[in-house]
Amino acid sequence: MRCFWVEKNESGEVSASLTEQPTSILDAAVTASPRIRVQVEYSSLNYKDALAATGHPGIVRKFPHIPGIDAAGRVIQSEDDSFQPGDAVIVTGNQLGVTHFGAWAEQIDVPGSWAVPLPDSLTPVQAMALGTAGFTAAQCVGGLIDHGVTPESGSVVVTGATGGVASLAISLLVKLGYTVIAVTGKESEHANLKRRGVDTVLSRDEFVDESKRPLLSAAYAGAVDTVGGKMLETLLRTTSYRGCIAACGLTGGHELHTTVYPFLLRGITLCGIDSAMCPMPERQKIWQRLAGPWKLDDLDSLTHVHPMDELASLVETILAGEMVGRAVVEI
Ligand code: NDP
Repeated sequence: MRCFWVEKNESGEVSASLTEQPTSILDAAVTASPRIRVQVEYSSLNYKDALAATGHPGIVRKFPHIPGIDAAGRVIQSEDDSFQPGDAVIVTGNQLGVTHFGAWAEQIDVPGSWAVPLPDSLTPVQAMALGTAGFTAAQCVGGLIDHGVTPESGSVVVTGATGGVASLAISLLVKLGYTVIAVTGKESEHANLKRRGVDTVLSRDEFVDESKRPLLSAAYAGAVDTVGGKMLETLLRTTSYRGCIAACGLTGGHELHTTVYPFLLRGITLCGIDSAMCPMPERQKIWQRLAGPWKLDDLDSLTHVHPMDELASLVETILAGEMVGRAVVEI
């Protein structure tokens, strides 16, 4: 099978290339059962995949490795009564592309419990345009709703606005009637964000507050934060009374320096988001939302489909923070 193969040599140097590997490498890789084998049709590119493609030790524990945390394809073998050969499925998160060989390969072998049926209203390309990014965005928006942030509460900030998770969070929030404020480092994308229904676009530098004041003017009802670090610190100090921040990312840093005042004096909620281990009932609910009432009208326009040959250059683009929209990979 053709796959994107990440290796480490004896000197500790990591290299990656498209190679042919026997499917027998999958046999020993999954110990949990019952398992299914999936012929992958499409995958996607997430920040985590790019880290895996460079052998980042926070993601890759064992070499050789195949990245790819998202897969859409058809079951070709099944030990799981819930799936028959020919079924169209989505596999995202869990340990796919992390401790397990991932979806940048023609086949994957995974526990059946990681897969959900592909909803009828989504094509495999649309499912991967959403992928972990769309799933996480929907989880974030669901977190805001669960904590009482409605379109009437006030505006919602989305940070890292042109990235995969953030782009989809913006689309979902606009669709659901929220007033969205986008924070981006890309001056060139301001007009595009406005065209997509964003009310106000702020540049990263003007938004981040470097002062040490524990609270700033309360301005926003909620936020979806994909950046972390100083961005999240600023959000904590500017979120209004009883607001909520769904924190899912760290492209701007993993550290967080704060006081307790936003929690004690404004009663705000910091809602942590983890998509990888999201329990199955919630996982199914999120996919049902994405395929039904939350189905995005602008998904196709956010999506660009690439052949596997372009994976290495796509990895460079996303690591440079220059990716716009969602990259789907035809496997
Ligand atoms: P992308 O690379 O597509 O988007 C990240 C965006 O962050 C960039 O487009 C850029 O947006 C902004 N950015 C990049 N570098 C910096 C920087 N140094 N400082 C501030 N902003 C920066 O990534 P994804 O959308 O795939 O993932 C976003 C984050 O969410 C990642 O940290 C990822 O690990 C995390 N994630 C977490 C999940 C979870 O379950 N918790 C699931 C999926 C992703 P702009 O130029 O517009 O500012």
